[in-house]
Amino acid sequence: MTRAEIIDGKLFAERLRAEIGRQVVRLREEHLVTPGLAVILVGEDPASQVYVRNKAHQARGASMASFEYRLPHNVPQENLLELIARLNADPAVHGILVQLPLPPQVDTDRVINAIRPDKDIDGFHPVNAGALATGGDALVPCTPLGCLMLLKHRLGELAGLRAVVLGRSNIVGKPMASLLLREHCTVTIAHSKTRDLADECRRADILVAAVGRPRMVPGDWIKPGATVIDVGINRIETPDGKGRLVGDVDFDSAVQVAGSITPVPGGVGPMTIACLLLNTLEAACRQLDLPVPSGLMETAWG
Ligand code: NDP
Repeated sequence: MTRAEIIDGKLFAERLRAEIGRQVVRLREEHLVTPGLAVILVGEDPASQVYVRNKAHQARGASMASFEYRLPHNVPQENLLELIARLNADPAVHGILVQLPLPPQVDTDRVINAIRPDKDIDGFHPVNAGALATGGDALVPCTPLGCLMLLKHRLGELAGLRAVVLGRSNIVGKPMASLLLREHCTVTIAHSKTRDLADECRRADILVAAVGRPRMVPGDWIKPGATVIDVGINRIETPDGKGRLVGDVDFDSAVQVAGSITPVPGGVGPMTIACLLLNTLEAACRQLDLPVPSGLMETAWG
């Protein structure tokens, strides 16, 4: 049996970030502007702290300005909203990200809705979600955007392909389905109430798994030759007690059947942060009425 091609999201993301960095330098030289990313972290959740550190570090690595705000876990909602209002008005900040999840005293929807849509580089604001769904100009959620880039890099033209998206969250499943529809795929969204999940998956030329259940999709759910994008990040126990990360797809069996597949880690994850930087660059250009650099993905890959 042939083994699937492994889609190297880490390498792809590195190249994309380098290209974004070049565009940021160009922007500064030609227009005296430095795109600025503000990241807000509420509480001390260790995983969120790692994510925020990585985001800020990579923003600086791409020559952007990075602003970090750490608030205590019991911060009153009003204080968080005031900070967002301040950042909305700050011309040095072009993108605002509030690390989720938020503690229970904070209404997450209210916080997302408070971010100026043109600074909403996570693409979660209803204005951006609506624009994506209706085919308008939107800041697109970073994880599905990264998945789409990997798919286009691997497959080129996606029109007419049958895509199954496993999961219907607002941050991954739904925007992923909208993006694939925009690329003229025939899209099915599957979820916990879907009746024969295996059967739905077996019809997919493109299978995107975003469920949050370790190794839920076995190789025999995959159509031979299909392209599999594994969004899941699940920590499982290991005998040495260190634990390790696995995806929603059972990699070992899937790799025997698929045409190509993203690994976990090293697949979708690195693309998410690269796309965050891409959205920050795009947001800065739009706010300053400058042309948005196009073709970054193609240039990145050379
Ligand atoms: P959510 O929990 O918000 O959504 C999970 C979705 O999976 C829901 O739509 C749910 O269906 C569906 N689902 C759950 N169990 C089953 C099942 N047994 N069969 C079929 N469908 C099921 O998760 P997210 O979308 O936020 O994240 C999904 C995964 O992606 C997680 O592992 C997360 O860690 C990872 N992730 C990775 C990122 C990255 O950068 N690589 C970024 C974001 C997320 P229903 O709606 O019916 O409940």
